[in-house]
Amino acid sequence: MSFAGLDPCVHCGFCLQSCPTFLVTGDETDSPRGRIVLMRSLARGDLDAADPALTFHLDRCLGCRGCEPVCPSGVSYGPALEEARRLIAARRPVPFSVRFTASVLAEPAVRGPLMTLAKLARPFARWLAGDSRVGFLAGMLAATGPRRPQGPEGAQEPQRGEDDRPSRSAAPPAPAALFRGCIMDGLFSHVHRATERTLRANGYRTVDVPGQGCCGALHAHAGLHDQAVALARTNVAAFNRVPEAAIVVNAAGCGAMLKEYPRLLAGDPAVKGWTARVVDVSEALAAAGPRRGAPLPLTVAYDPPCHLLHAQRIADAPLKVLEAIPELQHVAHGEADLCCGSAGSYSLTEPALSRAILERKVSALASGKLDVVATGNPGCVMQIGAGLRAAGHDVPVVHPVELLDRSYALAGYYSA
Ligand code: SF4
Ligand code: SF4
Repeated sequence: MSFAGLDPCVHCGFCLQSCPTFLVTGDETDSPRGRIVLMRSLARGDLDAADPALTFHLDRCLGCRGCEPVCPSGVSYGPALEEARRLIAARRPVPFSVRFTASVLAEPAVRGPLMTLAKLARPFARWLAGDSRVGFLAGMLAATGPRRPQGPEGAQEPQRGEDDRPSRSAAPPAPAALFRGCIMDGLFSHVHRATERTLRANGYRTVDVPGQGCCGALHAHAGLHDQAVALARTNVAAFNRVPEAAIVVNAAGCGAMLKEYPRLLAGDPAVKGWTARVVDVSEALAAAGPRRGAPLPLTVAYDPPCHLLHAQRIADAPLKVLEAIPELQHVAHGEADLCCGSAGSYSLTEPALSRAILERKVSALASGKLDVVATGNPGCVMQIGAGLRAAGHDVPVVHPVELLDRSYALAGYYSA
């Protein structure tokens, strides 16, 4: 049972300062330690799953898992939270906004037309983006569009880099199957194209996998367990048709979810060896070098998505991707380890706390002179992009592979 992962907790409190909700509210029951006490009470049957004393504080948990890497006892918080939410969903209706979003994302026939409408609305969203509730939602949509950071004069012309061979390796190209997802496929297709181009430039052979769909993360985190299981089975069946290919993911939340499929589908032989096949795009590129591109003289702040840094424990690979771009200057910021407040449907269900959490991040980013912010998850791109816009900063937020892609195009490896 997933609550067993909480057993090592000794209530030391080392995790408190890594918890974004505790940092904002200062309330012990909004901390990992407080929530673990609540979940243990649920597991023992001392608290009912519909008890507001429990649900109020678990609803306010981002599921960011920032409490896990700092825990000296090795508490496994994420699976316990998912189990608690499954029990809560069985006793209390999941909010309509979450059920609606989850249903849309799960159903391609509904998702496709809505994503097309959203893309058509982007120009208006840019115009409406601002600090109000509506302005913030518009800013989130506006942030999904392709953005090219302004470089210095002349940087737009293609120029040869240090390495202009078509591929670094003489070995047969390794097959890589891109996980397309739902929001990524609908609103971030430019990131998918950049991902495939940069993978091919680093010696991979990209493979299309029809029949795949949403990863089910939003469903699992909301307690919609059966829907999450159904989506996982669909994806496993699709990718098992190309068992020789690595499954490359460019959305941290999806990657973390895919790596959890063997736990979700426990006992299913179809997931044997599954997790070892799933890699973040930064891992795939870092494993291949990555090949250096042309100079891109920009100042970038990298903001690691929680589901990359905490859930998948991937810290160095995205930095290696950025280091392959000559003259790109990376500046660190003090809030990098903390969640931006996006967390799936959190900005819909807990808008005030989500914004309060985001404001810390935006203040940290706005204190530096940046040309661009890079982060590897669509929710983070939208949340940070909207937050910067609401605070009056027109700084593009992009995926790290978009910067590498631009650098490669300038080097003349391909045209993008
Ligand atoms: S989760 Fe870990 S760090 Fe937090 S109180 Fe428990 S043992 Fe300490
Ligand atoms: S998952 Fe994130 S918000 Fe929830 S208790 Fe852990 S650090 Fe806090």
